[in-house]
Amino acid sequence: MTSSTDRPPRLHFANPVRWLLPVVLVLFFLAVLIWLPWQARQMESSERQEQLIADTLWVEQTIRFQLGRHEEAMRSLSGEIAAGHLSPKQLHARLVQLLQTGHEIRRVMWVLPDGAMAATSDAAGAPSAQAGLGPHSLAAADHARRARKPIYSQPEILPGSSKPGLDYHYPIYSGERYLGTLVAHYALATVLDELVPWWFAQDNQITLLDRDDKVLARRSAAGAGHGVYTHKRGLDLPGTTVTLLTDSVKSEPRLLPNLLVGSVIVLSLALLWSLLALWGHISRRLAAEGALRQQMTFRTAMENSLVTGLRARDLEGRVTYVNPAFCQIVGYPPEELIGKLPPMPYWAPEVMSEYQHRFAEVLAGNVTPQFETIFQRSTGERVPVLIFEAPLVDNKGQQTGWMGSILDISDRKRIEELNRQQEQKLQTSARLATMGELASMLAHELNQPLAAISSYTTGALNVMQRAEDAGQPLDCGLLRPALQQAGAQAQRAGQIIRSVHQFVKKRAPERREVAVQSLLEGIGALIELQARQSYVSLQTDIPAALPPVLADRVMIEQVLLNLTRNGIEAMAQVPPERRVLRVRASHDAAAAQVTVEVIDQGHGIPDDVAERLFAPFFSTKAEGMGMGLSICRTAIEFHGGTLIHKANPAGGTIFVFTLPAAGAH
Ligand code: ADP
Repeated sequence: MTSSTDRPPRLHFANPVRWLLPVVLVLFFLAVLIWLPWQARQMESSERQEQLIADTLWVEQTIRFQLGRHEEAMRSLSGEIAAGHLSPKQLHARLVQLLQTGHEIRRVMWVLPDGAMAATSDAAGAPSAQAGLGPHSLAAADHARRARKPIYSQPEILPGSSKPGLDYHYPIYSGERYLGTLVAHYALATVLDELVPWWFAQDNQITLLDRDDKVLARRSAAGAGHGVYTHKRGLDLPGTTVTLLTDSVKSEPRLLPNLLVGSVIVLSLALLWSLLALWGHISRRLAAEGALRQQMTFRTAMENSLVTGLRARDLEGRVTYVNPAFCQIVGYPPEELIGKLPPMPYWAPEVMSEYQHRFAEVLAGNVTPQFETIFQRSTGERVPVLIFEAPLVDNKGQQTGWMGSILDISDRKRIEELNRQQEQKLQTSARLATMGELASMLAHELNQPLAAISSYTTGALNVMQRAEDAGQPLDCGLLRPALQQAGAQAQRAGQIIRSVHQFVKKRAPERREVAVQSLLEGIGALIELQARQSYVSLQTDIPAALPPVLADRVMIEQVLLNLTRNGIEAMAQVPPERRVLRVRASHDAAAAQVTVEVIDQGHGIPDDVAERLFAPFFSTKAEGMGMGLSICRTAIEFHGGTLIHKANPAGGTIFVFTLPAAGAH
């Protein structure tokens, strides 16, 4: 891996905004956790407080109810006293009866207006001269008398008692006559002891207070109150102010909040710890992901830049991976290859058995590490490929399949083919060069004997002429024209040899204005001779108005000779009536050239022959040299024309060459 991948990847999550929401949520969660115990405590407190208020009210009602019953009894007794039909004994009995209705009443007595006691509930029976009322009680008696209403005195400590109490005065009127007051003395401590239910006293300290909040009586069954839950309630007694104060022995709720707060702290710490751990984990994970992504990009770039095709297969031979280069080689997209089992779409039908065999070997676990084969592109085109196979091993060292790298060797093959052709051309050139040298040598060697033939024929003709001139002509019949022909042909042979010699020496052609007709006439005798031997009739079609061509006469004559000879030879096997060789010329004024066609009705040229027709040394004939057409094409192209061939619609072949018309330049 390159050094760039060793760098620690940048942590993207460092962006604070991304973490804002979770942090806010966690803080909110913590706030709720802390608020919950406080709220629970509050709720419990207010519940307790409400309970206390309700209970206090209930206690007050109980006290009021009991006092009310006593008040009622007092009212009826005072009515009876006022009526005056109670004997002292009966009166005493009624007073005692009143005393027994509630332990909170210590004493009931009838006090006359002058302060003397008329009757009392005391066991002694005999009322004392003075009632012994305290100052507050006396004031209350006076008040009751004046108001003609029953009234409670302010609480006070009565003489002879250490605990505070209060008196209930009921004024007795018989008509308008004031008969004194009926007094019930309540011991306040007993009021609490008797009238407050035990279950309430168990949970609360109950206190009676006077108007200066001085404690009158107190009951604390289960210890002193904590002052946390307290409630004050006036007893609503006419003439006095006594307040009931309840104080719960329960302290503030402790255990639950402590538990809750403790668990909140533990939970918060655990939450923070896990958050930090998560943070660390995520950062490690992101770092790993970043590194992985970088490696992936690197790998993808590497794969995409590869020119070698890669193909992975599992142990069953199913394609599991192909790279872009492979897809390009076979011309199929990856989705058409991945997951495929053989036969693969790129297997060429003609090599199918080879693939099958090799695949069977792969399944058996024997793989040829390197081999050449042919794949078929989606277009049907064949691609020569070189394949390297190697086992694919996973991180545990187990083989999971095969990995193949595939090289497209079309270029290599093409270069090999080119090299081969080049080689062949080189050989041909070498042979041509040798031919050239040979031709040159032959020309040189043949020049002498040809010159000799020429001079001998001229000499023989001269001898004949001289004998004739001397009046003694020699009787040699057709000898003279034969000698003349021999001489002409020897000269022609000399010319040919010279032109070949010059051609081989690559001199510039000697272009002159020549009429096509005269060209044909120059070699007409030779063509006729060949045609006659092969029973071929020769037809020429040269328009009279045909312009002359600009050409090297000897070369073009050779071309014409070659083409006509080929045409005659091609017709050797056809029925004699079809053996017609035509030479036709025409003028293409626009192109300023003359076209000459040599038309035969022979066996024609098959495609495979046509391909190599103009190649040097190519011949289908047992005796052929295969140089004719090659030289002809060179000669015509030398003149700036073209030589082609085409099939004759009537059967056979037409060779067509063009030459520049004279006067075009
Ligand atoms: P050669 O005549 O010595 O074989 P050429 O170069 O003249 O060499 O011709 C090459 C080959 O072309 C011949 O062997 C023959 O097969 C074919 N060929 C040439 N002309 C014709 C033609 N008119 N009709 C059919 N085949 C021809």
